[in-house]
Amino acid sequence: MKKNRKRALITGITGQDGALLAKSLTAKGIEVSGTFRRGSGNNFWRLNELEISDKINLYEHSIGNNPIDLSRVIQQKFDHIFHLAGDSFTQDSFRHPYQTINTNLTGSLEILDAVLQHSKESKVFIACSSEIFGNSKKIRSLINENHERNPLNPYGISQAAILDIARYYRNIQGLFVSVGILFNHESQFRSAQFLTRKLSLGLAEIKVGKQKALKLGNLNSSRDWGSAEEYVSGFQIVLDSNNPDDFIFATGRSVSVRELIIVACQQLGFKPEFTGSANTEKCIDSVTGRVLIEVSPEYFRKVDTPCLVGSTEKIQSELGWRPTRRIEDIIAEMCAHDLVRIGKH
Ligand code: NDP
Repeated sequence: MKKNRKRALITGITGQDGALLAKSLTAKGIEVSGTFRRGSGNNFWRLNELEISDKINLYEHSIGNNPIDLSRVIQQKFDHIFHLAGDSFTQDSFRHPYQTINTNLTGSLEILDAVLQHSKESKVFIACSSEIFGNSKKIRSLINENHERNPLNPYGISQAAILDIARYYRNIQGLFVSVGILFNHESQFRSAQFLTRKLSLGLAEIKVGKQKALKLGNLNSSRDWGSAEEYVSGFQIVLDSNNPDDFIFATGRSVSVRELIIVACQQLGFKPEFTGSANTEKCIDSVTGRVLIEVSPEYFRKVDTPCLVGSTEKIQSELGWRPTRRIEDIIAEMCAHDLVRIGKH
């Protein structure tokens, strides 16, 4: 007898990870459905660029707005549910703490409660962020799943609570709920408000004369940045396993904003040179003298999360997932993609 096609639901399918995950799942022959929020009409660009808009089923669901509609979707009893919808911009959470915390907690509660009520057999993956660790004491060691939590911003606070909510539905309610504790991960599908894409898009626009100097915050900030394509492939491995658990997704190395600027500039044919210091620092193209980047205090975080680097020992040893791509190669690709995109418009 022919085996039924596996079915997956992705919340936040219009986002970076949702779209990349949908692409990967459809390529494997899995039937993919996804939720999108009302009013995100302009945000189907990722699904369109990935050429999967006509290969997926879409349902409107705005977090906190009519959970009955969500229940109807969950009643379809998907094999795998990936909950990726949420407010994901840390910087914004300083200005809108209520919205960030409310959206992220409500979103997780809605989905897990609907699964408990209507589809206990579904396996659920919940996206959570490394911002839960924040100001960690053992800052020099690699961060693992047992590291103390100490978030420094409303986004991190919402993520720490998401982890507790997920553990409650797993440990007390008996659902299959796994959590990915995700360090930054990037791709050409990143939103333009995030540093890497701001850099690739901004510099590409400067290259073709569409933009003046780009304004950025702390150039010495460092992060553990990985590949979004690789991370979403790991989400699937987590749900294919037999035991629900929490897993860190990271690369184990940190790279500074300054280092990314150098790679991005070189990819676009500039010769970057830094002049000035602190709030007056600039990056210029030493060939033309053109100002490419200006440091601007308005882009500094109220409190910057110290550089945290994650350990993937657990997911590597238990599930065999490991990161392989370097952020330097990813940012170079992002610049090349944005240059092509600009050429098309
Ligand atoms: P994106 O910001 O690209 O995507 C977020 C998705 O959530 C979008 O589809 C967005 O819809 C949707 N969404 C936001 N608010 C609502 C709402 N109120 N109701 C319904 N849908 C909503 O994030 P990523 O894809 O990069 O990340 C996926 C998840 O992983 C997020 O939860 C994020 O916090 C988490 N994460 C991501 C990291 C990263 O580096 N990318 C690192 C750590 C955690 P719309 O398209 O309309 O905006």
